[in-house]
Amino acid sequence: MQYTIEIDQELCTGCRRCSDVCPVGAIDGPEGMAVDINYDKCCFCGQCVQVCSAYQEYKSETSAPREAKLTDRGLLESVKEPLFAAHNMGHAKKVWEALKNPAVVTMVQCAPAVRVGLAEDFGMDSGELVDGKMVTALRKLGFNRVYDTNFTADLTIMEEGSELIKRIQDNGVLPMFTSCCPAWVKFVEQEHYDLQANLSTCKSPQQMAGALFKTYGAQVDKTDPKKIVSVSVMPCTAKKFEASRPEMTASGSPDVDLVLTTRELANLIKHAGIDFRNLEPGQPDSVLGAYTGAGHIFGVTGGVMEAALRTGYELITGKALDDINIVNVRHSEGIKRATIQVGDLTVKVVVVAGLANAAPILEEIKNGTADFHFVEVMACPQGCISGGGQPKVLLENKR
Ligand code: SF4
Repeated sequence: MQYTIEIDQELCTGCRRCSDVCPVGAIDGPEGMAVDINYDKCCFCGQCVQVCSAYQEYKSETSAPREAKLTDRGLLESVKEPLFAAHNMGHAKKVWEALKNPAVVTMVQCAPAVRVGLAEDFGMDSGELVDGKMVTALRKLGFNRVYDTNFTADLTIMEEGSELIKRIQDNGVLPMFTSCCPAWVKFVEQEHYDLQANLSTCKSPQQMAGALFKTYGAQVDKTDPKKIVSVSVMPCTAKKFEASRPEMTASGSPDVDLVLTTRELANLIKHAGIDFRNLEPGQPDSVLGAYTGAGHIFGVTGGVMEAALRTGYELITGKALDDINIVNVRHSEGIKRATIQVGDLTVKVVVVAGLANAAPILEEIKNGTADFHFVEVMACPQGCISGGGQPKVLLENKR
């Protein structure tokens, strides 16, 4: 498994903005000196990367130490941004090499939050939806198949909704926890191992897609799975860690070979000289690029819960909801509780935004006072929209 976040000891000023936002208290160091990460605690959510303001400015003349750092971080030479002390390990260089290699077949998936964050890196309005431009850019970069994580977000919903209903009906382990956020899963494994059985058995959408690329996708393409390079684009630094977990090899090799953050994709597009703002919108490839609106809302807090409840309702009642928007589970801060009638079942749910807010819910479960069935936790403050791999807003504010 990879440590996907690091703090450069030469660049860190010891300001501790990172340790202030770390939800698990993994960053510390002597007063006034560079801080470092305790990897026994770190969940790789990358919030430290988002807030770090200690950087080495880009200079137009070649600087040997800077070039060495770029290589070390897996970034492309054309990256003009400053290099920050808190940073994630990059895969942009390896993806670029794969795209230039005619012997491999590149298949790419993009998470829901990427198409909402990407615009910001091209000076467009914050939050502008650029899904069509993103698809065209991926094709211009040279990806052989442009698929979509939303396809497997839909699969996750079907699996997770079914698993929840089965656990409720069969007196299974409750409450069930969502399992699509790798930072949350790592947190449960290392800090609350007695609650591991509460985690849904579903893989995350990223990992489901990766496994499908090298199995079903290879069959559809009549391609040798060994030739496939499976790439994901995520708003998330913890997804790099998730892809490197040794058990994520259902296809016989790593299901996801390389993970780009939203920032890294933006840099690849700039490196290739693509005029992103003026691209015509494109459509993902069939069939692993098809999706519904349920998969689309995975990127926000409460989205996984809402989508799973819609599915659970239909599975139990045999009818679709009159109003598919279960807005009382949507929110962007702290903890929200809701009760939803699903046929004869009264389902109580909790949605937690930000890993730091999970403590009281875990406490209720451990002291036996929890009366809820389903808990969604997304480690980042507003879910994946505010993930550690999204455009670094601070960068613009610093200039
Ligand atoms: Fe990654 Fe989303 Fe979890 Fe943040 S909330 S760690 S972006 S999966």
